[in-house]
Amino acid sequence: MRLTEKIYLVGGAGFGYSAKGDCNVFLVDCGETLALIDSGAGKGVSKIFENIDRMGLKNKRIEILFNTHCHYDHIGGNFDFKAKGCKIAAYRDEADEIEKLEELSLYSMAKTEGLEFKSVEVDIRLNDGEIIEVGDSQFEVIHTPGHTPGGMCLLFRKNGCKNLFSGDTASAQGKLGWINGPGCDIQEWKKSIKKLLKFEPDRLFPGHGVFVLSEATEHLRLLDFNMNMPWTVVIPG
Ligand SMILES: [Zn+2]
Repeated sequence: MRLTEKIYLVGGAGFGYSAKGDCNVFLVDCGETLALIDSGAGKGVSKIFENIDRMGLKNKRIEILFNTHCHYDHIGGNFDFKAKGCKIAAYRDEADEIEKLEELSLYSMAKTEGLEFKSVEVDIRLNDGEIIEVGDSQFEVIHTPGHTPGGMCLLFRKNGCKNLFSGDTASAQGKLGWINGPGCDIQEWKKSIKKLLKFEPDRLFPGHGVFVLSEATEHLRLLDFNMNMPWTVVIPG
């Protein structure tokens, strides 16, 4: 599904677009090559490849797969995508967990749901503020701890528009994701939302739920507001 001139949705259980358990999987057309944001929970890989073919992009190589964080529903397809030759990139503090599939990854939960997959080595360990060049495009790494300690968002600027891939750090309509998983830290999470607000993104592409094609900063403002409300209403969705 083409969302903007350069950004495609190629997977996501919430849209009935790949397989059970998959987070939203986004693809960015970087000219000669492609960048993938997250890889789902593993079972949806063949459908994700089909969707990429249907978008007319199968002749372009996926150069890099960014994992926004270590949760199993974002990394389960890593093995299959890496087997096609792409590099796996993740924030430096999250990379070990992606490789080892220990507690923070929630992999034990994946197994209870019949979602088993092999781990792979992370090729590129990213730092906060780093700019990664992919084809004709640039992605700015924003470390956003809270949902997990080494979670990150990616800012992709194109044609004067700031596109934010927010993983599970920020969803549309001020909604929070899973908040009591291992490694979750609400105080850090609150700081991360304030950090994201400073970038004033135009569009928001979250790991779950709907994406936002304009005025994304307003959605972040609502999330900031919700997160600083009393505990009884901190989980609006
Ligand atoms: Zn998550």
